[in-house]
Amino acid sequence: MSIKIHSDLCIGCGRCCQICPGSLIRLSEQKAKILHPKRCWACASCLKECPVQAISLFLGEDMGGLGAELNIVKENYLLHWIISKTDGSKETITLDSRNANQY
Ligand code: SF4
Ligand code: SF4
Repeated sequence: MSIKIHSDLCIGCGRCCQICPGSLIRLSEQKAKILHPKRCWACASCLKECPVQAISLFLGEDMGGLGAELNIVKENYLLHWIISKTDGSKETITLDSRNANQY
């Protein structure tokens, strides 16, 4: 299980490097790179922090995702969890972070 960083979208802000609790992401030539993909435990913090949605989480079979990818878009207090499936369809789950202690 790991994240995927889309270098073409990355603007080199470094926010993902600062937020990752395992210090797994570094900037190299102004692009984010994951150093140890196998150590990523999919906490999704970097997805939430990236301002340009350059990071996605690969949802493999082990997570029931069958190869889908997850992106997170922030809109004020709302977090839109967007799942892109291999058949091209998308599913969006919206959570209100003000109610985080209810989930
Ligand atoms: S998902 Fe979590 S553990 Fe994995 S790279 Fe992102 S912040 Fe680090
Ligand atoms: S938060 Fe996003 S844009 Fe910023 S360095 Fe990380 S991947 Fe690149």
